[in-house]
Order: sequence, then structure tokens, then C-alpha cells
Amino acid sequence: MMKRGLLVVLSGPSGVGKGTIRDLFIRRPELNLTFSISMATRNKRAMETDGVDYYFVSKERFESAIANDELLEWAEFVGNFYGTPLAEVERLRQQGKNVLLEIEVQGAIQIKEKCPDALTIFIVPPSMDELERRIRGRRSEPEEIVQQRLNKASKEMELTGQYRYVVCNEDPQLAADIISVIIKRHMEVVNG
Ligand code: 5GP
Repeated sequence: MMKRGLLVVLSGPSGVGKGTIRDLFIRRPELNLTFSISMATRNKRAMETDGVDYYFVSKERFESAIANDELLEWAEFVGNFYGTPLAEVERLRQQGKNVLLEIEVQGAIQIKEKCPDALTIFIVPPSMDELERRIRGRRSEPEEIVQQRLNKASKEMELTGQYRYVVCNEDPQLAADIISVIIKRHMEVVNG
């Protein structure tokens, strides 16, 4: 019988470089990973594609997804809703694929309750000053939102104890390599 795929949860404050690090390891064939595309109610950024980065939906559509139990987890983050579509994650894991969720802390805590075997990883910035530089460097959001994201980042950094692994993004390539090793090790443990 085919082994069910792992659930890998990647979190970290906004601006920490999750996307960059993810791109450096997600296509490594030995990791057998597929990215789970979340539903989100926020506006699409210029560089993003609907159905690739997120399924961008209305608040009404999101609420119906909650009501119909379509989401494995969901959370409100800086005024918008984000959630993981359950059916797709299940389908991929049944096929033996490891599934990567890139989600914030409240969602990760829900995942821990529902899937205690999930492999949870938190990425921390080298410093909070560096994080602020990176968030501002994105230049896509008004000052008020930047402040909210910075406050949220400080709060999230206090919850790293919820995760099985904490990886510092001193260097994205190194962080991606460390995460690859962690995932490979867990695949060995699960597959015996
Ligand atoms: P952003 O707006 O910067 O794309 O995402 C904001 C935060 O929401 C990030 O920490 C991101 O990882 C998180 N996020 C993205 N998708 C989901 C999801 O499906 N569920 C939860 N709980 N958080 C998500």
C-alpha cells in the first residue's frame, strides 16, 4: 500500500523570506513535495497569479467554505482571511505526495491539533531590524499595513515554541538546505 504523504507546515513572520526559501527546495525531486494553494480574501499583489499563489476569493465565498467544512484550517491575518482547502490536501497525501502548507501561526496550531504528525517548521529572521527592512523593501503596502505586519511579526516570534523546528534565514540557500534535510529525515522515519 502506498504511504500517505507527509504534511509539512512552514511558517514565519511576513517578510522573512518564506517564498524565496520555498522556491529553493520545493522542486527537489527527492522531497516529493507539492505546494498547497490557500484560499485568501486579500487583494492580489502585482507579482501574483490567481490559482498559483492563492485562490483569491470574496469574503462571501470564504465564509461559505468555512460553513461547508471545506477548510483544514483557517485564520484571520491583518484583516483578511486565509485557509487551506481540505479536499486537495487529502487527495495529494493519498497519492503519497508530501504537501507543503505555508501558513501563519494560528493555522499551524489548528494543524497540530488535527494532524499531530505534521512536520512544523518556523523561519526566523536574523534580526527584527532586518525583517523591517525586508517588509518595507516590498513597497507594496501603505504604512498602516506595514505597521500591522510588523506588530504581528513580533507576536508571531513569541510562538516559535509551537514548532518542531526553528530555522534562521541568515542565507536562503542554507535555510533551504536545512529544511530539505529535516524533511528527508522525516520521510525516512515514516517509511521505516
Ligand atoms: P500574505 O498576505 O503575506 O501572502 O500572507 C499573510 C500570512 O498568511 C502569511 O503568514 C502566510 O503564510 C499566511 N497564510 C497563507 N495562506 C494561509 C492559509 O491557508 N492559512 C493560514 N492560517 N495562513 C495562511
